[in-house]
Amino acid sequence: MHSPGFDFQPRTRLVFGADSLERVGVLARDLGAKHALLVTDKGIAAAGHPARAVGFIEAAGLHVTIFDEVRENPTTLDVARCVEVARVAGIDTIIGLGGGSSMDTAKGTNFLLTNGGEMKDYWGVGKATREMLPLIAIPTTAGTGSECQSFALISDETTHQKMACGDPKAAARVAILDPLLTISQPPRVTACTGIDALAHAVETAVTKKRNPLSAMYSREAFRLCFGALERVLHDPRDLSARSSMQLGAAFAGTAIENSMLGAAHSAANPLTARFGIVHGQAVGLVLPRVVEFNARDPEAHDRYLDLAILAGLEDVNELISEIETLLDAAGMREGVAKVGVTREALPELAREAARQWTATFNPRPIAAADFEQLYADALGL
Ligand SMILES: [Zn+2]
Repeated sequence: MHSPGFDFQPRTRLVFGADSLERVGVLARDLGAKHALLVTDKGIAAAGHPARAVGFIEAAGLHVTIFDEVRENPTTLDVARCVEVARVAGIDTIIGLGGGSSMDTAKGTNFLLTNGGEMKDYWGVGKATREMLPLIAIPTTAGTGSECQSFALISDETTHQKMACGDPKAAARVAILDPLLTISQPPRVTACTGIDALAHAVETAVTKKRNPLSAMYSREAFRLCFGALERVLHDPRDLSARSSMQLGAAFAGTAIENSMLGAAHSAANPLTARFGIVHGQAVGLVLPRVVEFNARDPEAHDRYLDLAILAGLEDVNELISEIETLLDAAGMREGVAKVGVTREALPELAREAARQWTATFNPRPIAAADFEQLYADALGL
């Protein structure tokens, strides 16, 4: 069995349960906060979650400043604006409330506020030298698992290059997992983020960096998401299914922190950058073909088989067809022809995919020619 060693230090306290948002003020105060910065976006603000959070934070005797201008796929400009607000207010704690974009902006702000310089100085792992401010992550989607990761994904405002800036010090000190917050997601967000979480479980299960501990998180994340995804799509108010998705996404995030990701994410990033396909949809579109490709490796095949059996399925082929069924239930394959990806675009997309960092962790070596074939099969071109 492929079983490398690992060095696992949980850095994030997990507080899970319906209405756990109510604890945000006391949890921040316990971290020494006197003045918190709440980082969120306008959509989340419209759903009313930040206003409730502010009430709980003030009730604990703390000051709070809001930055609610986070945009999807945040850039260096979003971080710069947030840093400016934080500096003027003189905050001592950061709270990221929202989807991956809000949590990434909160983390990026923490890097620059405490260590100075620019985001690109932290591209890679472990480049921050000074301690950071305490961070509380409160996801309102069940998808990225950013609340359990030490990476901030920030794009360069001019080049659009996505930079993964990771440092153990950037991990949230506390993640509040309140499944009630995820009920307000629009159906399309539930679908895209849910598919992303499922893909995180599937990809982390086979990467070269996987280890016995990450495998445990991948398996449980897969079991939870596979069992609950269709239920949240059909009944958005199903709190038990929402809870499973939220835990599954957080556990998959922990798996990523320890085992990285693979070729589905490598293939997805250029589709998002060039054609604006939402991350979860882009990952979902290519995932079945990546599983097919990787399953030719005997060890990867056995790991996929393990997931299949966990889900009560017979073999890896059935796993692939069940993932496809979920993609269709989530509407991920509708309207793909309209996105405008042409056969002519594939060689350049494939070259970009092969250059992605995540490709290096894929269990089977995967080159540009493989990605080109994979795109053609996945997109029916
Ligand atoms: Zn993802």
